[in-house]
Amino acid sequence: MLEDTAKECITWAIGKFPNLKMSTGLNVSGQVLIDLAAKAGYQGELLFVDTGYHFPETVKLFSELDQRYPEITFRTLSADSATEDLYLSEPEKCCQINKIDPLQAYLADTRTDAILNARTRASSPTRRDLQMVEAGPTYRINPLTLWSQNDLDTYLAANEIPPHPLYELGFTSMGCWPCTRAIKPGEDPRSGRFVGQGRLECGIWSKPTIAEISHAKENLK
Ligand code: SF4
Repeated sequence: MLEDTAKECITWAIGKFPNLKMSTGLNVSGQVLIDLAAKAGYQGELLFVDTGYHFPETVKLFSELDQRYPEITFRTLSADSATEDLYLSEPEKCCQINKIDPLQAYLADTRTDAILNARTRASSPTRRDLQMVEAGPTYRINPLTLWSQNDLDTYLAANEIPPHPLYELGFTSMGCWPCTRAIKPGEDPRSGRFVGQGRLECGIWSKPTIAEISHAKENLK
């Protein structure tokens, strides 16, 4: 049922948005989304923002998935110039420069009208009201909104997709190595992110303004 709904959502997005793209942080939800999108006929780009601080296992997984899904174009984005360990002094600025800006610039340059994304409500307290379709300058389509962690695990196992190698070591939410730790049993899956920074999000999926949402909805009619 969840799988059918997700596939229907992806199929709808493929038909609705001529310049649809997909992004990934290579969490297990991302692995599920890539597989579902390929099965639904998605043949666009998969965007991965290389901050320069990913675990080597994450970078390796990206190239392995490239082999597994030849119908999808894998594209790595990165900042124009390196930032010297900014995560130590100004982590939010580090995320802005190394994560948010490269993605937003690419989406704007390519006039991307919508992006498939693998966030789920269960993945973070900050995502409990996540909707399957989010209007904005680039629509965000979230086919896995209602999936639990168990649903994701079950899908990967049933489809013989090995999860990110750090996942079973407690890295339930994948991020950059300076800001991510494994969680302990009973902790929230998102609690290993942005350790000691008092935040759970990098800001890449911040809500658009009401004016941006209204404008986007007008354009879609
Ligand atoms: S998660 Fe940490 S290392 Fe990665 S971009 Fe943000 S501040 Fe920098």
